[in-house]
Amino acid sequence: MAKMIYEGKAKQIFLTPNEDELLVYFKDDATAFNGLKKGTIVNKGELNNKISSFFFNLLNENNIPNHFIKQVDDRSMLVKTLKIIPVEVVVRNIAAGSLAKRLGWEEGRELPTPVIELYYKDDDLGDPIINYYHINVLNIATKQQIAQMEEYALKINTVLKDFLKDKNVDLVDFKLEFGTHKGEVILGDEISPDTCRFWDSATKEKLDKDRFRRDLGNVEDAYKEILNRLTV
Ligand code: UDP
Repeated sequence: MAKMIYEGKAKQIFLTPNEDELLVYFKDDATAFNGLKKGTIVNKGELNNKISSFFFNLLNENNIPNHFIKQVDDRSMLVKTLKIIPVEVVVRNIAAGSLAKRLGWEEGRELPTPVIELYYKDDDLGDPIINYYHINVLNIATKQQIAQMEEYALKINTVLKDFLKDKNVDLVDFKLEFGTHKGEVILGDEISPDTCRFWDSATKEKLDKDRFRRDLGNVEDAYKEILNRLTV
């Protein structure tokens, strides 16, 4: 049995015989509001592994550096070992969630240009929003690394948004995590309905974790619908 080196809210990370590679196992556990709400979503692990693998393949086709090597089985993928940079990058196209609150804009209002936000990845602090000055004082990333992360984030937004448009899905917003591998900044973590807001373009029905956060029901069906739209 491979050694587990990390267990997060939604994933477990295992060592492999190759120190440059790790195995990511996707769990069915779901949390929201910084862990205050807990539950499970049936088959979420399998769905998020398949959805993330699909998106990482799409990014590879578009030459956007990321940690994905290959999907191994229904619930796991092989990735490059990363030193995670504890800065979450959120990209938004449509006002929702905390941005709707911050700006006083109604949910669903389109933003004239994409908005990038940076958050300090720290559970004890509840992932507060931060800026370059905070990052400099915390000494968690260089200015060049943040610029690189923002450049990739905007490219990823364009690739995902354009792809999803053809599938009748609005990409409302999403969260990315980056790390360094052999000194280079590359994308890590996952791209799934846990970390993105997806709305049906016609009905604006939510097809993401907001169904769990807001007790809207049919959570598994929404994740399944996203996988179906990507793959058919
Ligand atoms: N998000 C995430 N993890 C977090 C916080 C946010 O994946 O810890 C994602 C979330 O799914 C959404 C986007 O980032 O797609 C923006 O989230 P927002 O700040 O609106 O968060 P909320 O307060 O609604 O959770």
